Amino acid sequence: MLFAHDTEIALAEAAALVNTLSDGVDALATRAGLDAFLQRYPFSGTYLRTEEELASVRSLRDRLRTLWSARSREEAAAIVNELLLESDARPYLSKHDQWDWHLHVTRPDAPLATRIGAEAAMGFLDLVRSDDLGRLRFCSADDCSDVLVDLSRNKSKRYCDTGNCGNRTNVAAYRARRRTSA
Ligand SMILES: [Zn+2]
Ligand SMILES: [Zn+2]
Repeated sequence: MLFAHDTEIALAEAAALVNTLSDGVDALATRAGLDAFLQRYPFSGTYLRTEEELASVRSLRDRLRTLWSARSREEAAAIVNELLLESDARPYLSKHDQWDWHLHVTRPDAPLATRIGAEAAMGFLDLVRSDDLGRLRFCSADDCSDVLVDLSRNKSKRYCDTGNCGNRTNVAAYRARRRTSA
């Protein structure tokens, strides 16, 4: 493992949240969409199921996406610091459900978007301080603009996890080769 367990989970969840808006299709258009997302990526703490809460998660999603287009560590650090400041982050150890001791930085009754934002910030700050922002990439498939976090040792991940893009691209390349050789 390259980073702490919490960091890798936080980064994967941040990417998954960003990818809920995928080429114009919004999986978080409704509260049911947020239910489904939280079933896949559970967050402990309060969940109010209000429209306001949903709107704040969607706006957090837009802010997290900007980390993928940040052009410098300074730019990324500023976004991370803003998220930490807003969440009034105070680190403490927690142990709950199936999870062993791990770091929390917000209280369980802080708003959902605040908690998700703080957790994501804790993941991104590791990438900033290890000068590893290059691991934040956009999917290499021509028809996909989803984001990915490359946590592979040799930095070889090219496709997102959402759209089966690696397979699709390989099949398309194979068909194109067959067409030209036919
Ligand atoms: Zn926890
Ligand atoms: Zn993709």
